[in-house]
Amino acid sequence: MSNQSRILVVEDSKFFRTLVCREIARRIDAEVVTAQSLAEAKVKVEAAARPFDLALADLILPDAQEGEVVDWLQGHGVPCIVFTGIFSDELRERLLAQHIIDYVVKDTPSSLNYLMGLVEELSRNRQNKVLVVDDSATARHHIAGLLQSYQFQVVEAEDGEQGLAVLAADPDIRLVVTDYHMPVMDGVEMVKRMRATHDQDRLAIIGVSSGGGSALSARFIKFGANDFINKPFLPEEFLWRVMQNVRMLDMVKRLTELTVIDPLTGLHNRRFLFDAGRTLIARAARDGVPVTVAMIDVDHFKAVNDTYGHDGGDAVLRRIGAVLRSMSRASDVVARFGGEEFAILATDMDEAGARTYFERLRAAIAAEPVPHDGQALAVTASFGICHAAQGALDGMLKTADEMLYRAKANGRDRIEGV
Ligand code: GH3
Ligand code: MG
Ligand code: MG
Repeated sequence: MSNQSRILVVEDSKFFRTLVCREIARRIDAEVVTAQSLAEAKVKVEAAARPFDLALADLILPDAQEGEVVDWLQGHGVPCIVFTGIFSDELRERLLAQHIIDYVVKDTPSSLNYLMGLVEELSRNRQNKVLVVDDSATARHHIAGLLQSYQFQVVEAEDGEQGLAVLAADPDIRLVVTDYHMPVMDGVEMVKRMRATHDQDRLAIIGVSSGGGSALSARFIKFGANDFINKPFLPEEFLWRVMQNVRMLDMVKRLTELTVIDPLTGLHNRRFLFDAGRTLIARAARDGVPVTVAMIDVDHFKAVNDTYGHDGGDAVLRRIGAVLRSMSRASDVVARFGGEEFAILATDMDEAGARTYFERLRAAIAAEPVPHDGQALAVTASFGICHAAQGALDGMLKTADEMLYRAKANGRDRIEGV
């Protein structure tokens, strides 16, 4: 997999090396390469077909007692987390001057946990995009460089107006780090405008205040920034602030998902169908495209549970959910409506198209027995469809349900309504 991260572990203690590698493998999908000395690290880095995304390096190695490994990795563009048995202010300053991501003191009991938590988060950062807005190229590149070493995807803008345009064009941006003083549009004005379209739970904004003192920080917050940091800042502080904000976003995202996702099938739930469905139907009415609602109910599902147990029943529901999702368009809402009932809301299908489409779904469910406990469980489902040029969700669901009842009465494993 090309998106898999490549991690170099440089450590002479076999015990610690093995421990670190095992923990990485347990937590993330990464390709891990090890080296026991600086000499071996050099060979591994130079021979690599694809550059390393991250190195975890012991500061003191048999052939590099003064932390030379850090300089060397730095010089070869490999972001680095250092672990060390010793710790002093002098060492900390020397390390951070070399722009390492972080350092971990090896002999504290929680250090391996901290290290692995960080590696895990950095690996998740690869999916996250950050926008850096600053008119000074030096400052911008410095911050972008730090963020890249934390594994983020980074995009840049030179002033507030550009920042707004970049954000509008890229829905993947989750974090903005912005300067205040900029020509054309300053940072606070930009934050204010960003908040008109992006709320704090989905887009985190960190204001970087230099020279303006605490009043400026307050203005950033007042106009919608999640956080601020005063320049000059310590690298540890910057890493901490950035990660705290990303953690907050992830937490909100997970909580939001919990309220709209059915845990068994991973499909959306009934609540989401009603929330998103109304918007989807309103948009369809505006665009003048028809709407189709389908209610789908597994046939004789009680018998599946009775014969194969609840586990067998669950396997069937999961499989049917996967079939429905894989055969629908991203714009359709596919939901588990309750128990063994599913609902699909699709727009822009004509009547004949809807008939063909749901017939394909029906056939796909009937054609593929669900593997469970070494057995193959054959299942079918009945479909009730409501197709309308325009309609309200509640009424359409009611009609689809009546059609479903008719499909059951007419012998199951069939479609009624279109
Ligand atoms: P019909 O063909 O008329 O739809 O018959 P049926 O047996 O499918 O319908 P019925 O409504 O009588 O039974 C539905 C069963 O689905 C009853 C319930 O115990 C079971 N069920 C509901 N939710 C779940 C679930 O999450 N997992 C499992 N395994 N079973 C569930
Ligand atoms: Mg049923
Ligand atoms: Mg039912």
